[in-house]
Amino acid sequence: MAGIDLGGTKILTGLADADGRLVAEVEVATCAEQGSAAVVGRMAETVKQLLEQVGAEEEELAGMVAASPGPLNPVTGVVYYPPNLGWCEFPLREALADIFPVPIEIENDASLAALAEYRYGYGGRYDPLLYMTVSTGVGGGIVIDGSIYHGAGGAAGEFGHMKLLPDGPLCGCGCRGCLETLASGTAMARQARELAERGQGKRMLELAGNCPEEITARTVGEVARGGDAEAGEIILRTGRWLGIGLANLVNIFDPAAIVLGGGAALGLGALLLDPAREEMKRQVMRGLGKKTEILPAKLGGRSGLLGCLALAEQKEWIKSGGVVVGN
Ligand SMILES: [Zn+2]
Repeated sequence: MAGIDLGGTKILTGLADADGRLVAEVEVATCAEQGSAAVVGRMAETVKQLLEQVGAEEEELAGMVAASPGPLNPVTGVVYYPPNLGWCEFPLREALADIFPVPIEIENDASLAALAEYRYGYGGRYDPLLYMTVSTGVGGGIVIDGSIYHGAGGAAGEFGHMKLLPDGPLCGCGCRGCLETLASGTAMARQARELAERGQGKRMLELAGNCPEEITARTVGEVARGGDAEAGEIILRTGRWLGIGLANLVNIFDPAAIVLGGGAALGLGALLLDPAREEMKRQVMRGLGKKTEILPAKLGGRSGLLGCLALAEQKEWIKSGGVVVGN
């Protein structure tokens, strides 16, 4: 089978044999600005290239799973409005089916990352498992009884858009005060820039070459590690908002684990996660949260692709247990 992880900047494609072993992988740039047809063409090209590499034919593919930024409908295979791709209700499955005469699944990348962490990262030990990625934005995926939970319209799991602060910062979704506007890499960078505009946050500004627009979450993290109180305060505040988001999820799902991935969560580590855990404990309903572990994602940038394999396992396109993760 073929798995394609379609991202805003890159396409990572892998080919797995019938035993579920990843036998070939390739990464190319998405070039989203060239439009949907060109992107699908590049996706198809990667699959053809890998088939050629291993000496296999298209007809030998048991199936194909494409991980795409959401929101999308996995039943219809239509991708709605992914901000990073600039698409509008694009029928991704239809476009791929025109090229490959095989069964094709389209799934939200964060949902597949959740399934991958459930299946390969943590060996099925935590169920229900929620996955939250904290990077530029905040995404989420839900695994219940070993399967992705989709909701009625197929788009469940938008953890980044739970509302925390009425009249808070404006979110890309059009609402105000979403978790994503308060606890993401973008949110941290914004706060550091606001300080710089007021003549404060000097060390962060210095590290960014005195260009406020060059300040990123990484800048904030680096300066905070050096003991800077203003940067530390931004991360502490972000961690607390994240903790409130986690408490809401615990109150609703009572999950066995919430796995945190994404550049900001993994890059800042304990600096962000410790205050998040503390705030979660403070905010969660009494009696809840005792069974919920907050864990780091284990699969990094390959979680989308590995999620494609995990779904292919469930479709019985490949045998289970073939994937070796962690090296
Ligand atoms: Zn939002």
